[in-house]
Amino acid sequence: MAAHKLFRQTNGQMWWNGAFVACADALISIQTHGLHYGSCVFEGERSYDGQIFKSAAHTDRLINSARLLGMDIPFSAAQIEAAKKETQERSGIAQAYLRPVVWRGDEQLGVSAANNRIHMAIAIWAMDSYFANKMAGIRLCLSDWRRPPPACAPVKAKAAGLYVICTLSKDAAAQKGYDDALMLDYEGRIAECTGAHIFFVRDGQLHTPSADWFLDGITRATVLEMAAAQNIPVHERTIMPDELGTFSECFIVGTAAEITPVREIAGTPYTPGALSQNMIDAYDARIHSRAG
Ligand code: PMP
Repeated sequence: MAAHKLFRQTNGQMWWNGAFVACADALISIQTHGLHYGSCVFEGERSYDGQIFKSAAHTDRLINSARLLGMDIPFSAAQIEAAKKETQERSGIAQAYLRPVVWRGDEQLGVSAANNRIHMAIAIWAMDSYFANKMAGIRLCLSDWRRPPPACAPVKAKAAGLYVICTLSKDAAAQKGYDDALMLDYEGRIAECTGAHIFFVRDGQLHTPSADWFLDGITRATVLEMAAAQNIPVHERTIMPDELGTFSECFIVGTAAEITPVREIAGTPYTPGALSQNMIDAYDARIHSRAG
């Protein structure tokens, strides 16, 4: 049987293990370890005006995610940076989404991965920034799934396998008419959405769950920087669901979501307001500035 296409991207070129190949030729074997056993990590990055936002931070996180799964990427941070830059430039897409992905190959197919090679590819596709309608706000439900405890999963890795419960949560939310789902952690604390972190506003101050047991968000870090630059206090702390009714505004943050206000969490209403707008404007300024 023929190997499957790596991505549903048939035009243009993709960076793959150090060279550019036609997307149509980027094929992997069905016996790929990453497909069967989840030995796969990835990044989600955006470029604005042809410039990849926070590229170095994404590269560092990718290398770290791979290490957490016992994989040493056979390319240095500098090589990955250069590969992403060239992928961006060759694409000619000004506002893009980049998807670097690292996986174990098909050299051995069993639980052990001692003999598998580490592969890496970078895909790119067009993605516009959607700031225009953001203040309308989205609706979140609470997921039935909880983020796993650190003793049960490599929670700091952006690992493919950790997204199984995100996909289940996101699709269940959509079926109930919500935009996304908010997930609690294994002890019932508010954690994050299926692909974004969450911030709340009370009395002009920001509150966000401590990122102890989930992914260190690059957008979350940017929001902390933007708040610090304006002397807006931020409380990184444990937030329990019974506090949801005590906040006036709420927004989610992530590379794809950017800064997106929330107008409801499972029946609790929020009014996207001044602080959400402030963060949207500050983020918009950063993504379009060369300094980042
Ligand atoms: N949480 C999850 C589960 C995610 O997949 C993402 C997207 N990478 C985020 C949060 C936001 O992280 P970032 O700001 O680094 O994109």
